[in-house]
Amino acid sequence: MSLPPSTPGMHHVSVVTGTTADTYGFYTEILGLRLVKRTVNYDDQFMHHLYFGDERGRPGTLLTCFPFERGTEGRVGRPQPTATALSVPRASVEYWAERLADYDVDREERFGEPVLRFTDGAGQPLELVGSEPVGEPWTGGSVPREHAIRGLHSVTLASASPFQTASVLDALGFELDAQEGDRVRYRTGETVPGSVVDVLDSILPFGREGVGTGHHVAFRFDDEDTLAAWHDVFVEDGLSPSRVRDRQYFHSLYVREPGGILVELATDGPGLTADESVDSLGGALRLPPWLEPDREMITAQLPPLTDDGETER
Ligand code: ZN
Repeated sequence: MSLPPSTPGMHHVSVVTGTTADTYGFYTEILGLRLVKRTVNYDDQFMHHLYFGDERGRPGTLLTCFPFERGTEGRVGRPQPTATALSVPRASVEYWAERLADYDVDREERFGEPVLRFTDGAGQPLELVGSEPVGEPWTGGSVPREHAIRGLHSVTLASASPFQTASVLDALGFELDAQEGDRVRYRTGETVPGSVVDVLDSILPFGREGVGTGHHVAFRFDDEDTLAAWHDVFVEDGLSPSRVRDRQYFHSLYVREPGGILVELATDGPGLTADESVDSLGGALRLPPWLEPDREMITAQLPPLTDDGETER
């Protein structure tokens, strides 16, 4: 059977973080990412959904956060995305080690590339990988252009069934690239941010979703027709995909793969500039049309972006 068109790489990684103010502060001020969309969790409109990324919020650069104001700490384990890696120029790794000095950085070498491992202060596992970056740095942030993060590098998946997770990745367009220790690397071979996924070939203890854990990983696809075709493939394979949903900035299909990890297939369009200009991305709270009538109530319940009470960037 021929499969629908494959993915060039990740669209975004979504994680559960600490408070809104801590999340906004860390990802913009420390990591120097741009807040490119401030909206709410469409499944719980009294929670933020903050998107961080490059200047335009391009697919492949997006790390999206669900801040839990009084959330319980989660536990990293299977089946989860267990670390999100961002790409920086190899020559900038020392700059970052110094910049992150207060964040308990662990260093390692992985597939020949230097890796800095740390958390966001609320337990979210993050990595910076020194490589040949393919994305564009954002020039408006708190980090000098030469050192700025260039988008996603990879995500690490702790599966309950690494072999089955690998076969789903293979179907979606990833190929086995290399293995080092218990880490198996898959690549799409495309020169785009986020074209690498690592699957741990070991069974971690069970995790628990909460503050400091990964939530899902999304892969890029062209259009809704492609998502619909993948929907049918998943059904034929005995999986239970969601219907294709309108997420305002992309269309999405969710499926829990047999290894237990929540995977999303998302379209590139219409993109984060669908409802605000590049200059004003992330500036004001954006709500989908069906929540717009409740804006006043929602705004009153949402926590401010900063500890100083700012509600707009
Ligand atoms: Zn998502």
